[in-house]
Amino acid sequence: MIKDLELLRYSRQIMLPEFDVAGQERLLASRVLVVGLGGLGSPIALYLAAAGVGMLVLADGDQVDESNLQRQVAHSEEDIGRNKAESAAAACTAINGGATVVPLAYHLSGERMAGQVAAADLVVDATDSFLARLELNQACIAAGKPLLSGAAIGSEGQLTLFDVAAGTGCYRCLYPDGADEQNLSCSENGVLAPVVGVIGSLQALEAVKYLANYGEPLRGRLLLLDGWSMQWREVRLTAVPDCPHCSAGRVSADD
Ligand SMILES: [Zn+2]
Repeated sequence: MIKDLELLRYSRQIMLPEFDVAGQERLLASRVLVVGLGGLGSPIALYLAAAGVGMLVLADGDQVDESNLQRQVAHSEEDIGRNKAESAAAACTAINGGATVVPLAYHLSGERMAGQVAAADLVVDATDSFLARLELNQACIAAGKPLLSGAAIGSEGQLTLFDVAAGTGCYRCLYPDGADEQNLSCSENGVLAPVVGVIGSLQALEAVKYLANYGEPLRGRLLLLDGWSMQWREVRLTAVPDCPHCSAGRVSADD
């Protein structure tokens, strides 16, 4: 049952007819795993905490560096040297003391990743490493969990919802020959600060929609932003039939 104070705090969402008290209650009962608390993870974590996701698990093994502050808005100058998951958790708790925020101050991998993915209702990929994305992709497929993926570089960004259990392709289907992607990261290629803010905020929006069962999810659709010319594009993602990651876990149209 939703409490009176929660009715007040979340009134601007609850007044949306299709969202209502039921949508807010679903958010409050949700557990989300956010991997990466950098440029994408910062707005994701802050918005999900503010919107009323009941439990946020934040994973990042890195420390806040001065060069992060240009875009990683969950962290402040006083957080330099602090673990990013702990810094972001403190920022989330400052916004919403009613949310349970669990920082994981290490690089999430292997058995620990599998356990956290299995416990989550939704997994959000906010990492900037191709290998980390691949591992998270496999863990989500193995556990049958949806993976909300976002990326940004330069003045461009993209996001999509992989939901293999519901018939979509996966991250590996998007990059079957992923070797070229391995070296793309903000630290080496640069990124305009608001681009990660836009993509991260849209990931938060899609997370809220998915968890509250509100609106039409971005399932199986890849949304691309070209911030240079300010144009959006959408492409339908097709599952690769013999994808080594997801072909076994996908529900085929014949089933
Ligand atoms: Zn796949």
